[in-house]
Amino acid sequence: MSAIRGGVPFVDFGAQVAGLRREIDAAVRRVLDSGWFILGPEGEALERELQAHFGAAAAVGVGNGTEAIQAALEAAGVRPGDEVVTSPLTAAFTALAIVRAGARPVFADVEPGTLVVSAETVAAAITPRTRAVVPVHLYGHPVDLDPLRDLAAQHGLALVEDACQAHGARYKDRRVGASGTVTLSFYPTKNLGALGDGGAVLTEDLALAARLKEWRNGGQRARYEHVSLGTNSRLDEIQAAILRVKLPHLDAWTERRRALAGIYRRELEGAELELPREAPYARSCWHLFVVRHRRRDALAAALRARGVETLVHYPVPVHLQAAFQALGWGEGCLPRAEAAAREVLSLPLYPEMTDEQALTVVAAVRQALVSLR
Ligand SMILES: *Cc1c(COP(=O)(O)O)cnc(C)c1O
Repeated sequence: MSAIRGGVPFVDFGAQVAGLRREIDAAVRRVLDSGWFILGPEGEALERELQAHFGAAAAVGVGNGTEAIQAALEAAGVRPGDEVVTSPLTAAFTALAIVRAGARPVFADVEPGTLVVSAETVAAAITPRTRAVVPVHLYGHPVDLDPLRDLAAQHGLALVEDACQAHGARYKDRRVGASGTVTLSFYPTKNLGALGDGGAVLTEDLALAARLKEWRNGGQRARYEHVSLGTNSRLDEIQAAILRVKLPHLDAWTERRRALAGIYRRELEGAELELPREAPYARSCWHLFVVRHRRRDALAAALRARGVETLVHYPVPVHLQAAFQALGWGEGCLPRAEAAAREVLSLPLYPEMTDEQALTVVAAVRQALVSLR
């Protein structure tokens, strides 16, 4: 996409790596020199640093975000036959993690303004078999946690927050991850991204953290002593070392994302499209800046013609994906999520983007909207 002259790519990994290149090279060299590649000092240091950064009681590194969700559910006691309520408007990996934990995903519709689930929509999906809830802080916008925590407590449900898009988001005056059990992905496009796969669980529950450490390493309590049926889901030392270079920049990157989102919201005010809103309780970390338009595909094409790359998160809600057909959901079951999937469009937004690039996007959106009239 950067091939289009004067255009704006959706993301620019090169820019972030270039800015940190010497520190990243030094971190990788440190691991190569150490000769220790799995579950070692870098991973342990990263866990301590994540714990401190997010204000969690414990952080446990795992192989990726999907396994972070699976691990947290299994460690919270989810068993085959259980139901787990989640959002249909998310990366399908959220529901896949629930299936891998042996449970059945049950979808709660989203709130029309924020596109995240709420205590009201989750309550409608609870049955006697429900064992846990996995709310998704979609696009970096947190769900309204307090009512959801009350609901979970009232029904004796585990709450595992999918914060794979929400590193740096705040709920009221608290950082997402400072309490409860929260999963992070370090997939390269995420707000805190490795240069490969990675994930972590942050938790206030030290016993759960101990079970996670056992789970990720084959269920071993000590070497060759397998006491439970865990798996292999380890964050490698090179990725941990790279994440340690990036973590100290996360807050500044979040502020930059917020500034860019501010430009979009100010400059697109009054344009003929629906802008994303922040709920009064929320401080989004703007993983994605998602607008809505009835003729989304035509708008995307008109932007592409003007050199602006966009993506759709997500064109098909999880309950309508072929892989999940056996769950028995169909068109019309979750009307708000389905309407959103037809209309959402993600504009470019990444910390290295300049104000000028944001204004280029704004001008292109305004022209594209005129062309659609
Ligand atoms: C990225 C993502 C995941 C999966 O994380 P991986 O590290 O790719 O396994 C799960 N849920 C959401 C909301 C995500 O954005």
